[in-house]
Amino acid sequence: MSAAFIRIVGLKKHFQMGGTTVRALDGLDLEIVQNSFTVVMGPSGSGKSTLLYLLGGLDRPSAGQIDVAGQRLDQMDENQLAIFRRKSVGFIFQSFNLIQSMNALENVTFPMQFAGVAPKERNSRATELLKRVGLADRMHHKPNELSGGQQQRVAIARALVNNPIMILADEPTGNLDSGSGISVMQMLAELHKNGRTVLVVTHDPRMKHFATHKIHLLDGKVVSEDEYERASLDALKFTEQAANLGEAHE
Ligand code: ADP
Ligand code: MG
Repeated sequence: MSAAFIRIVGLKKHFQMGGTTVRALDGLDLEIVQNSFTVVMGPSGSGKSTLLYLLGGLDRPSAGQIDVAGQRLDQMDENQLAIFRRKSVGFIFQSFNLIQSMNALENVTFPMQFAGVAPKERNSRATELLKRVGLADRMHHKPNELSGGQQQRVAIARALVNNPIMILADEPTGNLDSGSGISVMQMLAELHKNGRTVLVVTHDPRMKHFATHKIHLLDGKVVSEDEYERASLDALKFTEQAANLGEAHE
């Protein structure tokens, strides 16, 4: 049996909202092998983004263990976590999260400043990556001069600058038209082929064609596909019943 690349045990993330506790993750267990392409599914509010944030070291758990490539994220101090984020993780967001005042090249160069890469090397690496995502002729454009698909490709190039072992993408095609979405998916698939471990949160059924693994979240826990389907069906029935009730009252 191959050792897990990601191993999560009893993971909890609770938020205090006024007097109530929101249990975003509520005792989640998960193992993921290296060089897999995992699609994470779950209804809104099931904890998908929270899971990705914790895996990427962008936030800390309330309880539980997170082991990525032999490193215990839950035991790291802020400094160690910052190094982990910079060196090991490429994060891709639904809303691109580019810096609006910087052009594409500057956006991609930016994270290398903090990784101790020499200025000349920064530029050549960023240029190479932007070429690879098909933006050779858009390097000096600012985000507001680029389409959504182009902005997401800049974000992918940025995610790759420090050559991360793991790519985390939170609904990366959620704000894109169908064609741009496909090209972003193909790029993620390419990164997987090149040996990276990829986790993608998505509602896009086309992403399943690229996936080697699927996980299903409900109420902050991983559930089986059967359990997930059953819950989806129940939710659908409930919606239908509510609609029928509405009609009966008209
Ligand atoms: P998903 O990405 O699956 O839609 P999230 O991980 O964003 O779900 O959120 C899971 C639950 O945790 C939701 O109920 C959400 O409102 C809550 N939550 C997430 N982040 C915070 C936060 N920073 N403060 C308070 N509640 C939060
Ligand atoms: Mg989310």
